[in-house]
Amino acid sequence: MEILKGKIAEVFKSIQGEGIYQGVSQVFVRFFGCNLKCKFCDTKLDKYLFLGLEELLDKINTYRDYHSISITGGEPLLEINFLKVLTKKLKEEGRIIYLETNGILPRSLSEIIDYIDIVSMDFKLPSSSGEKEFWFQHREFLKVAVRKDVFVKAVISEKTLVEDIRIAMAIIKETDANLPFVLQPQNPLEDILQERIEYFEKLCLEDNINVKVIPQLHKKLSIK
Ligand code: SF4
Repeated sequence: MEILKGKIAEVFKSIQGEGIYQGVSQVFVRFFGCNLKCKFCDTKLDKYLFLGLEELLDKINTYRDYHSISITGGEPLLEINFLKVLTKKLKEEGRIIYLETNGILPRSLSEIIDYIDIVSMDFKLPSSSGEKEFWFQHREFLKVAVRKDVFVKAVISEKTLVEDIRIAMAIIKETDANLPFVLQPQNPLEDILQERIEYFEKLCLEDNINVKVIPQLHKKLSIK
């Protein structure tokens, strides 16, 4: 029987640099490959290893003393068959599993949601990412993700349009008004971006959205 393998770009331990779990210690399992080409992407991957489950577990098990295992990419849900086996095994071993995803593959998420503890979902705002709209996919994705601890984050650039923020806010309200909505500045806060973020934050607060402005920590600290 053929052994199921995943394309793994790297496995390492660091602290989470984004979102509401910023600062917690994690083992990162980074899958290779993505189905998007966001303008702001800072994950430049050019090689990977084809690893079977046991080989990957051996790498993960070289680390001790961390909060959770971050399954990240690229887009990890592209490798749903391998991911199902991996997350089931990690869950059986009692690990906390944190999934970092672009939030456009709801069917794949539903296949592993039982094994996931925390979902960090990106809202791909077309005006920030340069990609097409994924509102339908994001809406369907969140319907599955709300079964677990979930938050959404959106990269904000000087190009981000208020129309995109309003649609994201509406989807959040339809899903769960308490869902944390993280506004993540693309760059260190320049004046023009700061004004824009403050404006978006005010809109969210006026609409009782659970908004948080959280810049990326690992860029500030220059760590992986
Ligand atoms: S979804 Fe993430 S990994 Fe993929 S291109 Fe966009 S930022 Fe990069």
